[in-house]
This record gives sequence, C-alpha cells and structure tokens, in this order.
Amino acid sequence: MLLIYHDKFLEHNKSGHPENKNRLLAIKDILDRYNYATIEPVDVPDAEKKIKEVHSDEYVKLIKNIKSDTMLDSDTYIVKETYNVAVKAVAASINAADYAADKKDSFALVRPPGHHACKNRGMGFCIFNNIAIAAEYMLSTGKAKKILLLDIDCHHGNGTQEIFYARKDVYYISLHQYPAYPGTGSADETGVGEGKNFTLNIPLRPYTTDDEYIEKLKIFRKVAIDYNPDVILVSAGYDTYIDDPLTSMNITIDGFGKISKYIKETAKMTGVGVAFILEGGYNLRGLSEGVLETIKV
Ligand SMILES: [Zn+2]
Repeated sequence: MLLIYHDKFLEHNKSGHPENKNRLLAIKDILDRYNYATIEPVDVPDAEKKIKEVHSDEYVKLIKNIKSDTMLDSDTYIVKETYNVAVKAVAASINAADYAADKKDSFALVRPPGHHACKNRGMGFCIFNNIAIAAEYMLSTGKAKKILLLDIDCHHGNGTQEIFYARKDVYYISLHQYPAYPGTGSADETGVGEGKNFTLNIPLRPYTTDDEYIEKLKIFRKVAIDYNPDVILVSAGYDTYIDDPLTSMNITIDGFGKISKYIKETAKMTGVGVAFILEGGYNLRGLSEGVLETIKV
C-alpha cells in the first residue's frame, strides 16, 4: 500500500482543538516504529481548477484570501497557511485515486479532513472535500466512469452526499452513528433525479460493535458487485473507535483490521484498486493503531 504524507499537513493547526497536528504526528510515529515508508504527494497542475470543479469560486476565493487565524464556523478553524495545506491535501487525495486506478492500493494521510465540506462552505473541521475532488478528477479526466465512495467515518459525510446527490456516476455509501453530527444521513436520503438510489445511508445505533458493523458492511459488498465501479475510494475515519472523545461507538483496533480486510476483499472481488483518504479520528491511539491495521491488510 502506498502511503502518501507530507509535513505540510501539520501547518493547519490549532492547539486544544480536537482536529490538530498531533493526529498526523501520532500516525507518522507509529509508521516509523513499524518501518513503513511514506511518499510525498506530487503537486497537481491546475489544483485550484480541480477544486473549483467541486466548490464554488466564491468559497475557494474566501479560503485563499484569509490572511490571519479565524473561525469558519463555531468548530472549523482556519489559519493563514490553511489554503496551501488544503491544496496539498487535495493533491495527495488525487494521487491516491490515481494509484488506485492503476490497481495500486493507497492511503492519503491528509489533514484537514474533507467529507463535511459542501459546495459553498466548509464545516465540521473540513475545508475542501478531498475525496469528492479526487472523484470528480477521475471522472473528468476519463480515468474512471463510475466510482464507489465508501464513508466509514463515524459522522455522516453530508458534504460528499450533497455534491453527488443527483449523480449516478458516483455511488455514495455511508455508515455512521445516527443520530449525531451533522444531523443528516437518515436511511430515506437516497438521492434525487438521475442520482436516485445512488446514495445509500446506513445509520448505526450508538455503541455499535465490530461484529454488528461488519454485518452492516455486507450491503457495501453487494452494491460494489452490482454497481461494478472502476475504483473504490474510502473516506477513512477512525472516530468509530470505542474511546473516541467525540462519538459513542464501540469499534476496537481489531475491528478496524476486520473492516479494512472486508473492504480490501471486496475491492479484490470487483477487480478494482482502493484508495483510503483520511477523515476523522480523535483518540490518538485509536487513530494511529487503526490506520496501522488498515495498512497491514
Ligand atoms: Zn468524523
């Protein structure tokens, strides 16, 4: 598995905030201990243009022009360097998708996360929607015609859902604690127009266990086989961890291994590569050891 990382991702930081640089430092530390090498993202030409295929010009301009530390909403901070960090996170995510299209599994170890970022605004610690931009890039460059997005972050990826809600070239599946932030993701949100039945929400009760989670994941395999995507992209959040400070789920480190294995086996069955793109995870042990389990399989 190709592991894409850059120290630049540490420069978007606010101490005391749950989404801070220590998350990636904990991951980097465990990778070093287990001798996993990382590669740096390759910058994407016209990155801003790629971002604007998903986000509005006004919103991109807003982030680009921020000159000092500020809050985008009550829980999403921005620092002076955030735009450049977020652009690099987008590049890493696009690189990961490119590798997956070549059947090389990859993991973009990025910050800030992306799946709550909507077309016109960031929210929920997210600035640009990394996975959505990577998916749109694959489609617009003809590298994929159909993409399956699996979101295993504990929270519903409202931004990703919104961006592809009326589309059938991107199938969005999310498993998430429900009810919980951001409030969306009920089972009856299934897409509109051409996109009807190409969004699948699997709300999970609080305290869902490893075995219950794998049971619910079976529908992802069924969809993957039926939909027959060219690539699978995963919004990989580790905040379903039993001791995560922001959520109430019961997934263990071992569980992350089982979930990752199930995803990998599904990708193998459908004959496609898979790219993991980091989202949440706020208990440093759950996050770093969870990521390690994913890498191991
Ligand atoms: Zn989350």
